[in-house]
Amino acid sequence: MGVGSGANRFGLWRIYTEGVNMSENTTRDTVILGSGCSGLTAAIYAARSNLKPLVLEGHEPGGQLSITTLVENFPGWPEGIQGPELIENMKKQATRFGAELRMAHLNSIDLTKHPFELNIGKETIHTRTLIIASGASARWLNLPSEQALIGHGVSSCATCDGFFFSGKEIAVIGGGDSAMEEALFLTRFATKVTLINRTERFRASPIMLERAMAHPQIQFMTNTTVEEVLGVEEKDVRGLKLKNRLSEEESVLPVSAMFLGIGHIPNAKAFKGLLDLDDDGYILTKNNVLTTLNGEIIPGVFACGDIQDRRYRQAITAAGSGCMAALEVEKYLEEHGR
Ligand code: NAP
Repeated sequence: MGVGSGANRFGLWRIYTEGVNMSENTTRDTVILGSGCSGLTAAIYAARSNLKPLVLEGHEPGGQLSITTLVENFPGWPEGIQGPELIENMKKQATRFGAELRMAHLNSIDLTKHPFELNIGKETIHTRTLIIASGASARWLNLPSEQALIGHGVSSCATCDGFFFSGKEIAVIGGGDSAMEEALFLTRFATKVTLINRTERFRASPIMLERAMAHPQIQFMTNTTVEEVLGVEEKDVRGLKLKNRLSEEESVLPVSAMFLGIGHIPNAKAFKGLLDLDDDGYILTKNNVLTTLNGEIIPGVFACGDIQDRRYRQAITAAGSGCMAALEVEKYLEEHGR
C-alpha cells in the first residue's frame, strides 16, 4: 500500500511512515524535468498510463511557449492559440489524468543509483525512470528594454511571430545560421529586414550567408551592437538604438520588431559528465529519445524536446518527442517491473 493515500486520509502520516523504508515507498515510476510542450506531453501520456508522473517545473515554467504570443502552427487550433493558454491547457490535461506538477529546481542528480536519486532543495526524490525535458532557452541580449518588450515586438522565434509584422521593417540580430534562417524566413512578411551582426565575421554556413546576402530585402549591418530597444513606454517596438563598434557612432534604426537569432542555451548543465552531450551542450540521443554515456544507452533515462533537438525546435516536434519518451518509459517499466 502506498504511504500517501491511506495515511493522509486517516491523518496518520507520521505513525504510518515510521519504521518503513521511505525511499522504497516514495519511489516514483517517472519524474519529468521541465513543463514545456515536450514535458507536458510526456506527462499526459505517462499519466494516462497510470504512472502518476511528477513534473518538476524548473526555472522557466511552461518553457518557451509561455513567453510567446499567438501560436498559429499547432495543429487543431485553426484560429491559433496564445502560447501561455496552450501550455495551461496541457497542464490541465496532464493533471486531469493524475500528473503532479511541482515548482522545483533540480540541485543534483545521481544516475548511478537505482532508482535514480534527485535532490531538490531539502528533499530527495527517487524514481525508476527519468524524462529530461528541460528545453533550451533562447539567448537574449539582456538589455532591460529588450526584456521589457518581449512579446511586444521582441521575439526569439521568427516562425512563431514573423506573421505579425507583415508589411513592416524589422531587424534580426546575429551572424549564425539561425539569424540567416530567421532573416530569410521573415522576408515573407517584412518589407525590409536588417541583419545586425556585432562583428564582420559570420558563423553562418557559406550557403546560408550567400543566400541571405543575395536577397534583395535583406540589408546587412556589421560591427554593430544594439544599445537599446526603443518603445518601452509605448509597449511596442519603435526602433533600435545602435552603435558602430569601430567608429563608436550611434544611430537609430526605425523598425517594428527585433528578432534574436543569437543561439539557444540548452538547459543540460546538470547532465554534464552523466550523459553524452554535443559540443554545444545539447543531449545526444539515439532512436529519438534514448540517452547515452560514452555511446552506451543509459537505461531508464530519456530526453525529449529542445534539449535534444537543435534542428526543428517546434512546439509540435517537442510534443511528439515528449510522447515518444513517455512510451519508452512505459515499455521500460513493463520490461523491468514497477
Ligand atoms: P551560432 O552559430 O553560435 O551563432 C550565434 C551568433 O550570434 C554569432 O554570430 C554570435 O556572434 C552572435 N551572438 C551571440 N551572442 C551575442 C550577443 N550577446 N550579442 C550579439 N550577437 C551575439 O548559433 P546559431 O546560429 O543558433 O547556430 C547554432 C547551430 O545550429 C549551428 O551549428 C548552426 O549551423 C545550426 N543551425 C543550422 C541551421 C540550418 O542548417 N538550417 C539553422 C539554425 C541553426 P559572434 O560570432 O560574435 O560570437
